[in-house]
Amino acid sequence: MNNPPIGATVLGYPRIGPNRELKRAVERYWSGALDESGLRSVAADLRARTWHELTDSGLDSLPGNTFSYYDQVLDTAALFGVVPRRYRDLGLGELDTYFAMARGTAEVAPLELTKWFDTNYHYLVPEIALDTTFALSGDKPVAEYLEALALGVTTRPVLVGPVTFLLLAKAAPDAPEGFAPLDLLDSLLDRYAELLAILAGAGVGWVQLDEPAFVADRTGAELAALRRAYDRLSALSDRPRLLVAGYFGDLGDALPVLADTAVEAIAVDLVAGPQAAERIPTITGLRRKTLVAGVIEGRNVWRADLRAAATLCATLLGSAETLAVSTSCSLLHVPYDLDAEPDLDPALRSRFAFARQKVDEVVTLGKVLSGDGVVVAEALARSGEEVRRGVAAARRDDVVRARVAALEPTDRSRAPYAERAAAQAERLGLPPLATTTIGSFPQTSDVRRARADRRKGIIDEAGYDERMRAEVERVIRLQEEIGLDVLVHGEPERNDMVQYFAEQLDGFAHTEFGWVQSYGSRCVRPPILHGDVSRPAPMTVRWSAYAQSLTAKPVKGMLTGPVTILAWSFVRDDQPLADTADQVALALRDEIADLAAAGLAVVQVDEPALRETLPLRAEDRKCYLDWAVGAFRLATAGAAPSTQIHTHLCYSEFGEVIGAIDGLDADVTTIEAARSHMEILDDLAAIGFARGVGPGVYDIHSPRVPDTAELTALLREAVRAVPAERLWGNPDCGLKTRRYAEVNPALRNLVTAARTVRGE
Ligand code: GLN
Ligand code: ZN
Repeated sequence: MNNPPIGATVLGYPRIGPNRELKRAVERYWSGALDESGLRSVAADLRARTWHELTDSGLDSLPGNTFSYYDQVLDTAALFGVVPRRYRDLGLGELDTYFAMARGTAEVAPLELTKWFDTNYHYLVPEIALDTTFALSGDKPVAEYLEALALGVTTRPVLVGPVTFLLLAKAAPDAPEGFAPLDLLDSLLDRYAELLAILAGAGVGWVQLDEPAFVADRTGAELAALRRAYDRLSALSDRPRLLVAGYFGDLGDALPVLADTAVEAIAVDLVAGPQAAERIPTITGLRRKTLVAGVIEGRNVWRADLRAAATLCATLLGSAETLAVSTSCSLLHVPYDLDAEPDLDPALRSRFAFARQKVDEVVTLGKVLSGDGVVVAEALARSGEEVRRGVAAARRDDVVRARVAALEPTDRSRAPYAERAAAQAERLGLPPLATTTIGSFPQTSDVRRARADRRKGIIDEAGYDERMRAEVERVIRLQEEIGLDVLVHGEPERNDMVQYFAEQLDGFAHTEFGWVQSYGSRCVRPPILHGDVSRPAPMTVRWSAYAQSLTAKPVKGMLTGPVTILAWSFVRDDQPLADTADQVALALRDEIADLAAAGLAVVQVDEPALRETLPLRAEDRKCYLDWAVGAFRLATAGAAPSTQIHTHLCYSEFGEVIGAIDGLDADVTTIEAARSHMEILDDLAAIGFARGVGPGVYDIHSPRVPDTAELTALLREAVRAVPAERLWGNPDCGLKTRRYAEVNPALRNLVTAARTVRGE
């Protein structure tokens, strides 16, 4: 067996390829342009490249099995035979069954996709039934280990841990009431035991089991399950050494539980859960183990202060038998390589580290801790100085700072709702059960071509504007003809609802190759919010004002809210998020003032990310919701009572955030409800929500066109819970991913249904 100490390591690495090679290859495979062996060879090249790169960088221990064709949770489900019957019945080969679970086919819907903890990565939710039998199916972790070995590289296979896997899974729809996937832990552990024996047989020295579910609040029973799992796995005679990793926060009560088991190593996230550092020396069980200190941030793009990281590590030295250093979590969540971005401003560059640079930071830190005197002095001095110089060079805007400092509570409140409602009713004259859409209309190939042509210089700014204006006019005419009450301009000019604003605000930087996997083949290029934020010029006014000039019906201005702008960007960490959010909010507040001055009577501020950035631990939620709601209110409270503020939220499971949604104090809130049968209206009524609400009656995630009868029934149900004066009829999200062939009849049916219910 191959058992060197862990030393300097990272918990995982990006896998889509520095130029999104994997995205392109899987998409070509799906479209039939590439066969399976072609896809497999692209994948093997990417793996080899990663292994060589990580070996050359000087890490002591390399993570393995970090590659995935789509998602590591789906890989785990496939590995243990958790494939619901409807996919098995398709009779496809192994790879196509896997993709069927990920993407669905003409016959079956895909597995549910949901967010990976509080990141912007999404995983597929395994479905487990009472009679699910786990069976080791396939050998991905072993095969990738051997593949690396054949290239001369020793890896540490990374697996989703058994308890986290079951906690992330959901009970199959036909499972009996009260059944939870965790009930099947023991039989899943049998299969993990079998896999560990096979890995040991292949010569694997270390295996990493990821248990991030334990940085969230867990019940005593769940902690007991964790203990049972690792007592059992660590008692196996035939197994590699075990590293259990908990990241995205502090393991809390789970840390002493793991420390009491016989696993050899535990990785802790000291960036997202720095408070763990104080408790670690008191946990005696750690003294016989390797502690992997995650001190280099794995999910943001700032360069580390190695001196501070080394000091922190030094305080932990006596707490464990061996101390290893690592990133706080997998590097999956950051772009590959800063060196691919020659156009970034050099002062800014010196503040950033992407995956490749973070590996170097870990390696340097490892040398520092192993007492390499020359490295110590040089690296620490250099890093400290560069970080300081970088921060000093950070964009500072004293005007914005002064505005934030001078904010008063009254800046975050509007006139009472009753007064606003009366002013808006008078100004807008809308019918009861008014109809609207969420903002975007289908992004046709013409629209995308215009954007590409502008990028390539085939058309100039004026030519582009002309094409966008033509599109806006077309969308306005269509909505008039369909008979909607509050119109939108359709958002043809927007590539992405955050990037569009970030590109127009000062304080953001943009990368060319800074792609990060969001889910499957979908990648995003988050903007980097690095300095004080301000708005040099109006951002959306010319489009909204133009749209309003075309029609007598009210047009809704369309903005993205401060919480969502922060959630989908990499955000500076040198000041509280609340302050950063307020700076963004002030820019939006000025934009709303300009929209109002241009004659817009309705403005929507989208906050689809409000719930997704909710902290994993309940105790941190109030603080988050306070600043999140505060920033939204700051953005919108400058609006006159007669300006109607809408907000849009993309989900219906409100749970923890329902009070916050009320706190936003928007005049109209549109939400997803089509898939939850309007239950949400009762939930809102229960907390005394008394403003306008638009439960989405039409699921835009599906190409299906709802008919008038169905929409009428949904609106009848809704009108029983909310009086028609406050009720809106709308789809449940933007229409940009749909085709006109679907949108056109669906919106007509919606308007017909609303008229019918209005008449009743
Ligand atoms: N206004 C945006 C749109 O319609 C909202 C998108 C979203 O909520 N994700 O596309
Ligand atoms: Zn939405």
